Amino acid sequence: MNHLGFELQPLKIASFDFTCCEGCQLQLANRESTLPEFLALVDIRNFREISSERHDDYDIALVEGSITRSDEIERLKTIRARAKMLVAFGTCACFGGVNSLKNRMPQEAVIREVYDGKAIETMPSMRIGDIVEVDYGIPGCPVSKEEVERIVVSLVSRSPVTLPTYPVCVECKQRLNTCLFDLGEICLGPVTRAGCDAVCPTGNTACLGCRGPAEEINFPAFAQLVRDKELSMADMREKLAFYNGFGDYLEEET
Ligand code: SF4
Ligand code: SF4
Ligand code: SF4
Repeated sequence: MNHLGFELQPLKIASFDFTCCEGCQLQLANRESTLPEFLALVDIRNFREISSERHDDYDIALVEGSITRSDEIERLKTIRARAKMLVAFGTCACFGGVNSLKNRMPQEAVIREVYDGKAIETMPSMRIGDIVEVDYGIPGCPVSKEEVERIVVSLVSRSPVTLPTYPVCVECKQRLNTCLFDLGEICLGPVTRAGCDAVCPTGNTACLGCRGPAEEINFPAFAQLVRDKELSMADMREKLAFYNGFGDYLEEET
């Protein structure tokens, strides 16, 4: 019996990384203050940063990173076949993330500039959802520890999984920050999904949209704001493209 007064069955959970920095997995592993409670809710079957145990039976697969090699495709399909639920874990997995910057140039140039011309297989970065069915996406570069824990508790207690539908500006206003647009900077807060507690603008850095588009946004009004402030539309597009999460909007008239 837990403190909520009902029995929670631990979920068998496994975590896998593909092309990424593993920062999202580390977010969970590093959260020592709540790690014991988190581990009590789950049965870790595979999680390189937390445990040396390896098992192939799991309910939930947290999949981190994007796909950039053919062997990753086969491995991902095997994970999908074994998991009852697959979660795209972090911005790389949800949108392609920073890895997608390589998609802007010919792959021969990537091999030449990054790998010094060595015979290394690499292909344009793909989202996890481009290859297999994804049940849930948890965005963030890195993910928010609090949000992941809340979602895992929802899954364990068989409650609906929700993400904020409103944009980062809501959280930014709650923190009483001066708007960066008023300081002459383009910030993607008006169009980006909240849930990070507006950590970047609170640190005086513009939001780059790592959590992807919010549901309740007015994109034409955002583009008009950039114009009204006489800021660069090219810079706006550059920021929108950084994490590869705003493809649909980039195609709109901006
Ligand atoms: S989303 Fe960001 S923190 Fe997470 S794995 Fe990708 S690059 Fe690293
Ligand atoms: S700084 Fe960014 S997130 Fe904050 S209110 Fe301004 S546009 Fe919104
Ligand atoms: S403020 Fe924007 S870029 Fe920064 S963590 Fe939040 S969503 Fe990501």
